[in-house]
Amino acid sequence: MWDELDARFAVDSDWRLERGPVTAKSVTPMRSWVTEPMRYGSLFLAGDSAHIVPPTGAKGLNLAVADVVVLAAALADRHATGSQDALDAYSATCLRRVWQAQHFSSFMTTALHTDPRDTPFDAQVRLARLHRIADSAAASAELAEHYTGLPIG
Ligand SMILES: Cc1cc2nc3c(=O)[nH]c(=O)nc-3n(C[C@H](O)[C@H](O)[C@H](O)COP(=O)(O)OP(=O)(O)OC[C@H]3O[C@@H](n4cnc5c(N)ncnc54)[C@H](O)[C@@H]3O)c2cc1C
Repeated sequence: MWDELDARFAVDSDWRLERGPVTAKSVTPMRSWVTEPMRYGSLFLAGDSAHIVPPTGAKGLNLAVADVVVLAAALADRHATGSQDALDAYSATCLRRVWQAQHFSSFMTTALHTDPRDTPFDAQVRLARLHRIADSAAASAELAEHYTGLPIG
């Protein structure tokens, strides 16, 4: 594990990763899930209760916060105006962003991880994808836009 981390953290300077004892190891099961709609009557789902993304895109907490921002504004609007409109739009508003995160997380999972069932052709296609991101300003900007997060609401 340390050799792999060293390779990934390597920089052109004297800085070196400090090694230490590995105290625990486990394999994290990955899954993807979306509950649609994110509402049942007056019950509103937010965060992991509504959607799970694999950790490859680092989007789970971001999605949870985005849901809550949208839901809080909708509840405040209901309280201030009596209108249900923002609450009625809550699920669709959030799901548009959720599916973008599912798409990005799925892309990151398949781009960064090999699959034992891959053929040599599949492996070359994956490598071509990564080369495209490294070589193209447009492709790297697309990835950066997803990584830094889409607008809320
Ligand atoms: C190893 C790991 C790494 C991650 N890395 C990232 C990352 O880099 N970036 C990112 O955006 N996301 C990341 N995530 C995902 C992120 O942690 C979750 O998506 C996020 O915490 C979901 O927030 P939540 O409030 O929906 O759920 P939670 O954070 O799970 O909060 C639910 C809370 O409800 C409590 N609870 C459960 N049952 C009950 C009950 N019956 N009564 C009362 N309370 C209850 C729980 O104790 C918990 O505190 C990571 C997750 C893991 C596991």
